[in-house]
Amino acid sequence: MTKSALITGITGQDGSYLAELLLSKGYKVFGLRRRTSVPIMENIEHIKNEIEFIDGDLLDQGSLINAVKISNPDEVYNLAAQSFVGTSWIQPVLTGQATGIGVTNMLEAVRLTKPEARFYQASSSEMFGKVVETPQKETTPFYPRSPYGVAKVYGHWITVNYRESFNMYACSGILFNHESPRRGVEFVTRKVTDAAARIKLGIQKELRMGNLDAKRDWGFAGDYVRAMHLMLQQDQPDDFVISTGETHTVEELVEIAFGHVGLNWRDYVVIDPKFVRPAEVDLLLGDCTKAKEKLNWKLEVGFEQLVTMMVESDLKKLQR
Ligand code: NDP
Repeated sequence: MTKSALITGITGQDGSYLAELLLSKGYKVFGLRRRTSVPIMENIEHIKNEIEFIDGDLLDQGSLINAVKISNPDEVYNLAAQSFVGTSWIQPVLTGQATGIGVTNMLEAVRLTKPEARFYQASSSEMFGKVVETPQKETTPFYPRSPYGVAKVYGHWITVNYRESFNMYACSGILFNHESPRRGVEFVTRKVTDAAARIKLGIQKELRMGNLDAKRDWGFAGDYVRAMHLMLQQDQPDDFVISTGETHTVEELVEIAFGHVGLNWRDYVVIDPKFVRPAEVDLLLGDCTKAKEKLNWKLEVGFEQLVTMMVESDLKKLQR
């Protein structure tokens, strides 16, 4: 029987990779899409005819109930969020509403309309923030360091609570940073790969950056959406950390990206305090042993391959 899935955040990076994965597995895919003055379809242009779009917004409960009714999903992937940490200091209330309360809105829509549907919540390593132990795993206490991280902690616990209160099949995937050519340009990886390509092509002169010593555990989004799907195929719902278990500095990222186009980053990168976060997270490094053992999940794309894939894609986009 054909399974059906409802994806919120379908126009984003992860939504697009997940939609591709589920379509390749024969799912009927529904995507919740909010109204924008100009449609944001770049990530899903190539598959848009295979997706059934439903208009709605995480802030509008009725539209979510409607989306669950129309899609009658076996699986719901709640990927929508105000997802950029930097913006969460500028719009903390909106971030709390969409990234935090939005999860309850979606869970309620499922509980009231199709409680047996399996539910995935997009939680984040930013919940760890100020690090209590390294590497971080499912049992590591949270200490978020941004309004985004705080909202994600709420989303995580409400998901666990609905599982325990209503016996719903609800999972929280605690994903460390994952990137791709479809990452928004405001995120540091894409900012760097886009700038390396622009400088190479002579359309940008310098790259202004914040803290080059910040360390992150960066993986490839295509690998991470496979883990989301696996979480919803288990006998029992559970929470999983998904990470590479490797950490790299922003400086290494810059070095690989510029090196790939034959440039020395030191000639182009300018440190600008404007880009330093008001509160920085410590060393984020994930331990995904549980996912490897229980989900049999593995990584396919390494850090260098990821960065060069992104630079190549940016070069092609700009040349077009
Ligand atoms: P993106 O920013 O690329 O996508 C976010 C999506 O959410 C977009 O489709 C956006 O729609 C949608 N959205 C935002 N606000 C609303 C709203 N109020 N109602 C409905 N839709 C909304 O994020 P990613 O794909 O990178 O991430 C997916 C999820 O995973 C997010 O929840 C993110 O916080 C989380 N996450 C991501 C990590 C990463 O490294 N990428 C790490 C850990 C967690 P629109 O196109 O209209 O703006």
